Parts: sequence; C-alpha cells; structure tokens
Amino acid sequence: MDVKSDNTVANSKNRVLARKYRPLNFKRLIGQQTLVKTLSGSIERKRLAQAYMLTGVRGVGKTTTARIIAKVFNCLNPEKIPEISINPCGKCECCLGIASGNHIDVLEMDAASHTGVDNIRDLIDGVGYKPVTSKYRIYIIDEVHMLSKGAFNALLKTLEEPPDHVKFIFATTEIRKVPITVLSRCQRFDLQRVLSDQLIKYLNWICDQEGIKCSNEALQIIVRVSGGSVRDALSLLDQSASISGDNIKSENISYMLGLPNRLSSIEILNNVLSGEIAEALGMYDNIINHGSNSETMVCDMLDILHLSTRLLVGGEKNENVLLFAVPESEKNGIKKISKFSLPDLTRAWQVLLKGLEEIRSAPNADEAGSMILIRLSYASSLPDPASLVKKINSSFQSHENKIEPYVGNQVSEKNKQSDFIKNNDIEKQQKEPADYEEMVKLFKIKDELLIHAKLTSCVHLVSFEKGKIDIRITGNADKGFTKEISGNLKKWTGIDWIVNSVEDEGEETLDQKREREDKERITMTKSTPEMEKVLKAFPNADLKSVKDSNE
Ligand SMILES: [Zn+2]
Repeated sequence: MDVKSDNTVANSKNRVLARKYRPLNFKRLIGQQTLVKTLSGSIERKRLAQAYMLTGVRGVGKTTTARIIAKVFNCLNPEKIPEISINPCGKCECCLGIASGNHIDVLEMDAASHTGVDNIRDLIDGVGYKPVTSKYRIYIIDEVHMLSKGAFNALLKTLEEPPDHVKFIFATTEIRKVPITVLSRCQRFDLQRVLSDQLIKYLNWICDQEGIKCSNEALQIIVRVSGGSVRDALSLLDQSASISGDNIKSENISYMLGLPNRLSSIEILNNVLSGEIAEALGMYDNIINHGSNSETMVCDMLDILHLSTRLLVGGEKNENVLLFAVPESEKNGIKKISKFSLPDLTRAWQVLLKGLEEIRSAPNADEAGSMILIRLSYASSLPDPASLVKKINSSFQSHENKIEPYVGNQVSEKNKQSDFIKNNDIEKQQKEPADYEEMVKLFKIKDELLIHAKLTSCVHLVSFEKGKIDIRITGNADKGFTKEISGNLKKWTGIDWIVNSVEDEGEETLDQKREREDKERITMTKSTPEMEKVLKAFPNADLKSVKDSNE
C-alpha cells in the first residue's frame, strides 16, 4: 500500500505518524473534496493554470497538496492514459522523487526563512531552462506571504510571462498579506479545516493500521485539541500512543496535555451558575493542585457554554449534530447547563471571555482563575438587565406619589400640546397659539425647520401676547428673521403679528430650558431609592437620560 512505503519505522515508540501517513495522492487527502473536484475539472477541460495559491490554517495539508499537484503535472508513468491525470502513479522515479522532496525539476523554498530578493533570484534563476527529466519545472514556495516587497517584485516579473514549461505553486496561511498583483495571477484554492467526524474516522483507520487501541473519548479529545489540523492530530496520537504503550485512554491525553478533566469543568460551571461558589472553589483548587491549568479550564468552560447555549436556542433537533464530538459522559452535564436561562448563559460567556484575557496577563494565573469563578457566581446572582428594567418600572409605579407632581405636569403639558396638534390637523386655518411654546411648535408642525431651530436656540422671549411678541435674538439669526416669523404666523392664523427684536434680557431659550429640565429629571430620578440600588449594583454605571415610557 502506497501510504505504508516507509519501512524505517518498526517500533511503536518511534513512529512518526504525520510523516508516515502523509498522503501521497488525492485519494488519501482527507477533507479537501472541493479542491480535488475543481482541479479534476480543470484537468479534464485541459485548462491548467500556471500558478496556484493554496491557503488555509496550519497543518491542514497545504504543502502535501502542493506536492501532489506537482506529481499530477510530472508523473512519468507511461501507462497513464490521459496525459495528465488527477491520480499520479506514486511509483515512478518522478513521483518518488517529489514525495521525498528530492526531484531535480521540482524546487521547494520556504519563504519564512528565505524572505529576500536574492533568495527569489537564486530560486528562479533557471526558469528559462527546460526541465531535465520531466515535463515541467515546478516551483513550490511555502509561506509565500513572508517574502519581502523586493522579492515579490522579482517574482512578479516571471509570473507575468512564465515560459510554458514552468508552474508555480504557492502556499500561505495569511492570504491577505499576499499582494493582489501576485494573487490575480494564480488559481486559488482554500483548503478547509478538516471536520471533526472526518478526522475521527481517519484517526480510527490509522489506529487500526498501527494496532493502536484508542478509546473514543480519547479520539474526541485529540480532535478537539487539534482544531481541524490533521498534522497536530497525528502528532498528538503519536505522543499519546508512546506514553500509553499503544493503549490510549482519555486520562492519558488529559494528563499529557495538563488538561483538567472536562467533567470537572462542567461540574464547576454548573455549581457556579447555581450560586454554589464554595463547592466550585473546592473543586477548582483540587484540579489546580493536580497540575491542571486555569486557562485550559476557562477555555473548556467557554466551549461547554457555547454548546449549551446552542442547545438552548437551537432546540433538541440539533442535539446529534452539536454534540457529535462530545464524549457520552459529558453530554448530560452539557444538557443540564443548557437549562439555565439565555441571559445567564450569555453573561457567563462574557465574564469568562474577559477572564481569559485576565488569566493570560495575571502574574498568578491560578489566583486569577479563582477570582473569575467568584465573579461569575456573583454575576449570576444578579438579575439580568431585562428583568432589572421590569423591576424598576414596577417599583416606580408603586412610588408614583413621590414623583407625581413632576410627572403630572409633564403629562398635562403633553396633553395640551397634542390637543393643539390635533386641532391643527382638523382646521385649515390655525387657531392662534396660546403661548410662546405653542407658537414655536407651530413652526415645527408646518415644517419650517430652520426657523424652528433658530427659535429654540437663538431666541429669548421677553413678552408674548396675541398678535405681539417681543424677543431678544442672540447668535446668528439674521435681520429678516422677525419678518419671517410674523409673515408665517399671519399666513397660518389669519391675523397680523408684530414681532419686535428688543434688548431686554428675557427668558432662557427653549433649548436651555429643556437642558435644565433634563438635568433636573436625572437628579431627581437618581435620588429615588430604586435608582440608588441600581447604581450600587453597577458601580460603573451612570444615568444619562430619563425618558417617559409613554413617549
Ligand atoms: Zn508517477
């Protein structure tokens, strides 16, 4: 079997699975069906690009894919029916040479350690020469985003007009750092993170091949920790096989990685959310004393919260999908946590996420961990903002007497205004406004917004009577302003209005008045016992505005 061609590995303590099982063809490359399909399609249609760009997270198989593509182009197997096939033979001189990184016409360079313009010049020096033994000269540049600006420019010259016998294959983890001039000349493939179930199946297969016993829970931990990277998963499997004598249990892996048992994380979280902080801290001290670290515990808790919350909002329909990679033993705990309310869970998420940063920057991460648990339990004993608002509203109603005079004025004022507006709507000819504020409001109703703005911000009322207004104008209202006022008023009310600009001090402007009243409202609300409680519970909160809930 092609994948087992490496017989230097005899003894189980010594095998390097990632190398041994490096896929030599697309059939063995897991999780990248889209790429294989697209590439097969372009081979069939004979539309092959001169340059390829492979992107994806580390360990997902970019370099491996680059080598397989190189084989696709250069495989010499004479029995191949189509000239180029998606399945290179794996046996010819060329395939073997490429697999071992040792082929005269396939040149690899790691741009992470060769960033300069001279490195690129050296590499593509022979670009004009025909390949020695195969059809194409192929350049594989790994971590291409690391190239310097000069190096990119040198590369670009060749990329713009490459000879027919040259192919480029680039790989990168950071596609955004690759200049668009380079990108636009490449066919791009985004390699996907390998899905948990695919990776578990794959690891199971390898365990069978190698005679390794590995519990399902242990495989699930490996897959979770490796975050979709096949290489990381294989090297974890490797290490845990060698420390456990090929009989891997979840405890081996937890021990190896210094992972707290996830079950304890679930139980601690459940205790904290239920307000049983003493219990939770006891368990926490215990796992820390046994060599676990607080950062992993908080990461676990975040993962658990995420699953529980998804379970809560997604209903049990998705349970199988959501809990696929979760060991049987953890499922009940996660379901139990999903019974807390959504506000509880999302708030816990925020506290833990913030806590994670604190753990990373704290001088003593274990102490920080216990403080976070205490904060979490304190936060979960507080009512959530929505019920807090409800509570405040209802207690305001029961204290109505206390603030009634004020609210009362507001309401009657408002009724007056809305009556006035109603009248406006009914009658074409306006009744004359009864006071100055009504008059100003009229400008708003009639859509004379600029005049309205000037009236509220630049005008101090000195006296108001029907048909005659004295005002002091400040700011940038112009000379024609009084005429604009009287003209409009006459149009709307049918009577003459005399508007005088005078020097007397007059009242505050309407804007100033509103601002003062807002401040008074805030001060008055702050001094109510309900609000005092709220401000005590949220020391960093401040009351910015008070709104009438009927508004
Ligand atoms: Zn071949």
